[in-house]
Amino acid sequence: MKSHTRVVVIGGGVVGVSTLYHLAHKGWSDVVLLERAELTAGSTWHAAGLLPLFNMSYTVGQLHKYSVDLYKRLQAETGQDVSFHVTGNLRLATCRERMDEYQKYCGTANTIGVPFQVISPREVKELWPLVELGGDAETPAIVGALYHPDDGHIAPADLTMALRKGARSRGAEIHEQTEVTAVSRTRSGEWLLKTSKGDIVAEHVVCATGNYARQTGKLFRLNIPAIPVEHQYIVYDESPELKQYRQTGGRELAVLRESDKSYYLREERLGWILGPYEAGAPARFADGVPDWFGKSLFEGDIERLLPHVEAAQRRVPALANCGIKDIVNGPISYTPDGSPMVGPAWGVRNLWINEGHSFGITAAGGCGWQLAEWIVEGEPGIDMLAVEPRRFGPYTSRRYVVQKNEETYRNVFVIHFPDEERPDARPAKTSPVYDKLKRMGAVFGQRYGWERANWFAPPGVTPADEWSFRRSNYFEHVGAECRRIREQAGVIDLTPFTKHEVSGPGAETWLDNLVANKVPAKIGRMALSHALTRGGGIRSEFTITKLGDEQFYVVSAGAAERYDTDYLQKMLPADGSVALRNTTTSRGCFALAGPRSREVLAKLTDLALDNTAFPWLSAQTGEVGLATDVYLLRVNFVGALGWELHFPIEYAHHLFDALFAAGEEHSIGMAGMRAMESLRLEKSYRMWGLDLTPDYTPFEAGLDRFVRMGKGEFIGREALQQQLDGGVPNRFVTVECHDVGDADPLGNEPLFDERGTMIGRATSGYYGHALGKSLAIGYVKAPFAAIGTRLQIEILGERKRATVLVDSPYDPENRDLKA
Ligand SMILES: Cc1cc2nc3c(=O)[nH]c(=O)nc-3n(C[C@H](O)[C@H](O)[C@H](O)COP(=O)(O)OP(=O)(O)OC[C@H]3O[C@@H](n4cnc5c(N)ncnc54)[C@H](O)[C@@H]3O)c2cc1C
Repeated sequence: MKSHTRVVVIGGGVVGVSTLYHLAHKGWSDVVLLERAELTAGSTWHAAGLLPLFNMSYTVGQLHKYSVDLYKRLQAETGQDVSFHVTGNLRLATCRERMDEYQKYCGTANTIGVPFQVISPREVKELWPLVELGGDAETPAIVGALYHPDDGHIAPADLTMALRKGARSRGAEIHEQTEVTAVSRTRSGEWLLKTSKGDIVAEHVVCATGNYARQTGKLFRLNIPAIPVEHQYIVYDESPELKQYRQTGGRELAVLRESDKSYYLREERLGWILGPYEAGAPARFADGVPDWFGKSLFEGDIERLLPHVEAAQRRVPALANCGIKDIVNGPISYTPDGSPMVGPAWGVRNLWINEGHSFGITAAGGCGWQLAEWIVEGEPGIDMLAVEPRRFGPYTSRRYVVQKNEETYRNVFVIHFPDEERPDARPAKTSPVYDKLKRMGAVFGQRYGWERANWFAPPGVTPADEWSFRRSNYFEHVGAECRRIREQAGVIDLTPFTKHEVSGPGAETWLDNLVANKVPAKIGRMALSHALTRGGGIRSEFTITKLGDEQFYVVSAGAAERYDTDYLQKMLPADGSVALRNTTTSRGCFALAGPRSREVLAKLTDLALDNTAFPWLSAQTGEVGLATDVYLLRVNFVGALGWELHFPIEYAHHLFDALFAAGEEHSIGMAGMRAMESLRLEKSYRMWGLDLTPDYTPFEAGLDRFVRMGKGEFIGREALQQQLDGGVPNRFVTVECHDVGDADPLGNEPLFDERGTMIGRATSGYYGHALGKSLAIGYVKAPFAAIGTRLQIEILGERKRATVLVDSPYDPENRDLKA
């Protein structure tokens, strides 16, 4: 083994080897993979090898698509047969909600170019003659299906070996029986890895250790929330019916998924593999994999399998006629949201994570591709927020992760409603006024561990969601909350906002170089600012307020806490001229919004609130009620007259009560996240992470007024200049969707021109309650962005007419805000 290298990849499963392969492909040949046992010794050797393209996430969908395309060409490239059976993949539906889910997915699939077909029960039977179409209580009738003709299954070990060959042919080294046992840093800042075969120094380290992620994390003092869960499949003997079907010329059957019964079924040597996602599967190895486990498996748990076996036998009666050969029960890595962690680690430089893979055979290609891109180029080529390791925060305690991972596992096949909020490990992080909100009828959701009120059930209404792809039980109540903010005054608890204080003599220059806008020069002014990638895409959105000489208050999305903190910390100058303090949990935030908000606030503060003393987009520090040191920001995300009050957290109860007492005569009330969604869409306000991502520049996002090309250097400027010179390819639009019936757009819908050619995608959508319009915002090719352009949008499989509206269709002149 060499003593120095550019990158060490720890872990020789399919994910680690794919990362190595892609690094070598990008020209980094001085790269080494270390595997404690032999390649594929982890979960890879016993995986069923399915490659489902289906995924509701725009990012993960792209990663899976890349994998499937890559695996098809690997054999030609490396000479290694990977046993890729392109059987197709059939997902059955037995209820309307399931079909809605498939149709919602189809919108995403369209935008990323994944081929699929929605087929009828008759076509299901033609494709899969051994299936029963059903029609009784135990085996409900198939109402339709989603068919992917292009995917299938592969031999995971052969795939790994092909990637290995491809990597080695480009100079990469692989050392088996080489365990990384300790880690430190050299004086020059490189990694020094102690292994069972000696030391090695590397500039970068990639962790791809599958079930070992917890103990690998400990080596680096990181709490990685990837804990495996037991996953089983049954291998059946030869099936007489299948044999007959194949011997009479039948082609290999598509991988079958009966989502409503939570199992998959595929052919295996004239028999079957049946894999359920069962309730009650336990998390394992929360503290690491014990030495005795090695390459072993767990005992099969037939009790857990039985309900799925029975369901599968009813759907495919041939199953009942063949014996069980084997039960494979292995650990499958999970994360609390079921997506892997791919990208930089937090708090340390040059450490990369490719962990938490539950569909690792499917994801390995795409995740290796993008991680290599990130390491070599400094940035990934596509928006990776959905798999960003820093999307999780310090709230991922061991118990939290165990509960969430078990929940995610048993929910793999549930219908993924867009408004779904899963109940386990909750409440965890709460705003101080959580109980008060609950008593007011709050129906909570969870984001970044925080409980956030989604909507408020009025007296007499059950405070619970009925999840749906369509307008649901909360529709009219959200509407009432919106109207209250447009007509009177409302309060939104935004305590989860990420908050930083930046100070010191270098603060202004440093911030100015990080963002595209000009950092406010005058005390009491604020600026919406975007940190860009070097490619000019939008990385973060910050509201920067100048609180004092050399003192700035920086607010960003609640879910971006670790993502933003880590970035800001890593960008700090080494000379100590800038101090950064994360104040997220020491300050709460209530947004007070609506035409009556000035009168409400005036009762609680001595500050002058008129437009001269306290104009829009300005801030002051002062007293509100009994609370001191409150930052009052005249800004909000709903497009109304109002103030965000950022207060020392200990005043939360007092301020809350004071606001409600002062607002009583104006019928003040609470509003939740769903009302905010409706209100912000009426104002075309772009949401970080959905509408603002590294995939689009601020010019494409229509944020030109927040970019100061003339101010001097900032990260991303060069790429923006190139875009200006070459032409901005996409433009941000707000569209009204016509004749939508009961299903509004919700984001990830494809947009078409009038002739039906796809010309863009919606990134968000909702019903605008004050406007009375169904709205979507997103990106279209530049020629289609003019106001009045007639487009089409696909909502749950149906094409609807859409018209491009003026940006900010509610109150385009901002009269409310400036009132
Ligand atoms: C029963 C079952 C069926 C499955 N079926 C499918 C399927 O059909 N399709 C699909 O996409 N996915 C499937 N999976 C999931 C899939 O197996 C995993 O997602 C995938 O194998 C993960 O690969 P990996 O490289 O991340 O981890 P692993 O394959 O576990 O590899 C990690 C490697 O790291 C090594 N390592 C750990 N620590 C160290 C150290 N300190 N030093 C050196 N080496 C170290 C380990 O020895 C191991 O070889 C299935 C999983 C199970 C359990």
